[in-house]
Amino acid sequence: MSESSSTSSTKDALMQSHRNCISFIKKQLEDPLIAYMLGEIERIGCPLPNPFFRCERCLHTSTDKPKFTAAYILGSFDNNNNSLDKNQQNDDDNDIISTEYYFGKPGVLLCEDVMDRYSKADDKTVVLHELIHAFDDCRAMVNWKSCEQMACAEIRASSLSGECGFMYETKRGNMGLRGQFMNCVKRRATLSLNHSSVCQGENNAKTVEQMFQKCFNDTEPFIKRI
Ligand SMILES: [Zn+2]
Repeated sequence: MSESSSTSSTKDALMQSHRNCISFIKKQLEDPLIAYMLGEIERIGCPLPNPFFRCERCLHTSTDKPKFTAAYILGSFDNNNNSLDKNQQNDDDNDIISTEYYFGKPGVLLCEDVMDRYSKADDKTVVLHELIHAFDDCRAMVNWKSCEQMACAEIRASSLSGECGFMYETKRGNMGLRGQFMNCVKRRATLSLNHSSVCQGENNAKTVEQMFQKCFNDTEPFIKRI
């Protein structure tokens, strides 16, 4: 294959993964749970910026390891506030990121290349997880530099998104032992903290344990766990 045709086929593949990501978002917007979450974020006073969902490439080379499939981009829901923390680097590898690239607007970043490569294209739990972070960000002034508050956000996101459901856990090889759901929530929340630059090296399992009951019991905006 000549160099130019290989470059153009790479380009085609990239275009295709972008298109797949856009159609994934469109499909998600029709999902009642996703629509409900978006409505609740607006209802409690945070109009969603347009665009709120963004499809981007997250891997730079074919050997890059994905850090996340999707991430919640921190920013101000206040339309008049475009101030940016220029010192903040986007070097966290958990799914809550802050970057000046996004002009201070909150949103959900979907990694189109990761989604394509790891075939999670129909996984709405990924989007719900990030929307629960968006809801928490809107509901309270979450201090994303506090490991306790981050633990709480991750416990809620893991327990309410459905990612610890029976099917997902079985696929991960964690069979239905007693207490598996809670173990999954704790494990995933701890992992998220371990991967964040803020809480790396801390005793995150302990923090998650300390925050667990209170944050697990907080099922807003759902009446009960879904
Ligand atoms: Zn998260």
